Amino acid sequence: MNKDTLGLYLHIPFCVQKCRYCDFCSFASSEAQREAYTEALLSEILHAPEDMREVNSIFFGGGTPSLLSENAFSRIFSALQKRYKISRDAEITVEMNPGTVTGEKLSALQSLGVNRVSMGLQSSHNEELSALGRIHTYEQFLDSLSLVLASGIENVNIDLMYAIPHQSVQSFKETLARVIALAPSHISAYSLIIEEGTPFFRERESLSLPSEEEEAEMYALACEMLGGAGYRHYEISNYAKEGCLCRHNLRYWQGGDYLGFGLAAHSLYRGERMANTEDFLAYLKDPLSYESREKRDSAAEAEEYLMLGLRTSFGISPTEYRARFGRDLLVEKKEALSLFSKHGLLSASEERLCLTQKGFYLSNTILCELL
Ligand code: SF4
Repeated sequence: MNKDTLGLYLHIPFCVQKCRYCDFCSFASSEAQREAYTEALLSEILHAPEDMREVNSIFFGGGTPSLLSENAFSRIFSALQKRYKISRDAEITVEMNPGTVTGEKLSALQSLGVNRVSMGLQSSHNEELSALGRIHTYEQFLDSLSLVLASGIENVNIDLMYAIPHQSVQSFKETLARVIALAPSHISAYSLIIEEGTPFFRERESLSLPSEEEEAEMYALACEMLGGAGYRHYEISNYAKEGCLCRHNLRYWQGGDYLGFGLAAHSLYRGERMANTEDFLAYLKDPLSYESREKRDSAAEAEEYLMLGLRTSFGISPTEYRARFGRDLLVEKKEALSLFSKHGLLSASEERLCLTQKGFYLSNTILCELL
């Protein structure tokens, strides 16, 4: 990862309603709350550390950032431009949900420099969307996608989920086929995780979920169909057409510096990890103080290097790992590496240690052995 550049993340915590599986920091809001939040965000940006490095990725995540008004986006971009040197070819992503954008808003975003949109579809089957508590149908997603493309933004990610209630291997196959036919530049496919504190967690005994075998089949299907359609499987849950890997997310996985703004946003900056508060009122009152700030020690850095690096198809460099952290993985973990390699889960050489597609699926087990 090029340390001479910087990434910016802006968290917009507003959603039309809460999805039944979601434990992200997001909630329904009023116009007044969104306005107060924008003011707090502007203040945080304008007081953030000065940095002469070029910003080559900006990511508006959430929540549903597309719920912010054009005026709010315009003020946020002005503040970012005042504070940072944004590279001319920066990747600028806005997450959006179907039904939350108009052609006017998309044109305004495009004029401000937004060149990538990440759309939450999850499934092309309306009964599955409804079970997830999503606000949209597949048809509404198609309408919103047409608006995005008509605005001139061509770099589009579509988020999918598998192992969700009422889904079958066949219905997931249909979703994959429909999305591939739309030819977006990037597709993410995440398996559902039942998180504590969500409605799904409370109802977990009665949810009609696919079996573990079906879930594994769905993962294999995604690898096969997306690979066959020319998408490179470059991270456990992410697939991209050539040249369309998400620069911002690669920064997270490869240990690059980024500053996070907004409620619950995290930063990795000059060797420190910082986290903002998740308390909305506390953030509005004081958007400038971090809830936690921690200098990483070498052991924590080594663990992160391995955990994040092995998420991607680029893997890690055992030589760099030895030079930075003084541990020789190829010697220390020789037996485990040879066993995993025999089962086709990873490939290991002096140059690179990488998980295979099969290995991605079992990455937690493999990491437990290697850490
Ligand atoms: S749209 Fe996304 S952030 Fe909002 S509630 Fe649903 S899953 Fe959570």
